[in-house]
Amino acid sequence: MAGTGKFFVGGNWKCNGTKDSITKLVSDLNSATLEPDVDVIVAPPFVYIDQVKNSITPRIEIASQNSWTGKGGAFTGEISVEQLKDIGCKWVILGHSERRHVIGEDDQFIGKKAAYALSEGLGVIACIGELLQEREAGKTFDVCFQQLKAYADAVPSWDNIVIAYEPVWAIGTGKVATPQQAQEVHVACRDWLKKNVSAEVASKTRIIYGGSVNGGNCAELAKQEDIDGFLVGGASLKGPEFATIVNSVI
Ligand code: PGA
Repeated sequence: MAGTGKFFVGGNWKCNGTKDSITKLVSDLNSATLEPDVDVIVAPPFVYIDQVKNSITPRIEIASQNSWTGKGGAFTGEISVEQLKDIGCKWVILGHSERRHVIGEDDQFIGKKAAYALSEGLGVIACIGELLQEREAGKTFDVCFQQLKAYADAVPSWDNIVIAYEPVWAIGTGKVATPQQAQEVHVACRDWLKKNVSAEVASKTRIIYGGSVNGGNCAELAKQEDIDGFLVGGASLKGPEFATIVNSVI
């Protein structure tokens, strides 16, 4: 835990769930024992946010998995930041690799969304991470720095941003980064923030890891100095396992 502030664990439910399965997941989360000194966030699919907000313990905050670049209006299929705030969201996940590589969002578009969400008071979980071929070509740092720069160029302040380093080859593959691999990139990102934003932002900003985190590997990852929490996909769909990950804070 190198960033000041609390350990931060987000559950990204992606495009999963039904009313029934989400009722069960929320009930499991409500009855779980969660370490008090951890920020815990879940990101349900848009259509279930209201259901979750109305049934989950206030101990857990809600994120959306995306937001629009500006005020709502004639943007078919989009959801505005104002609407998300209206139903109780406090956070938004932006720049996720599935948005970048499956949907085709680019750095500039993501930066615009981040700036707007922050200006309206939402916290931003700002995702970055390299593809396997980029890692194999020795470009991991270059890719992460370029993605960080796009956020830095767009946002007026880093007060309400958590960076999520998620190597794309580790997401949903069961192939978690080793604690050393994750730590190495987290340190490099913190150093980038120090050189390109400020020493204060570098020391305050939480950098969390995502990519095949589960109940079995979280403790070793959490021991790394610069890992300030996790963004969890698959394992966040199981209440007790997600609680284990939250409680891996040391
Ligand atoms: P995963 O997903 O834990 O299923 O690998 C992580 C993420 O996409 O945030």
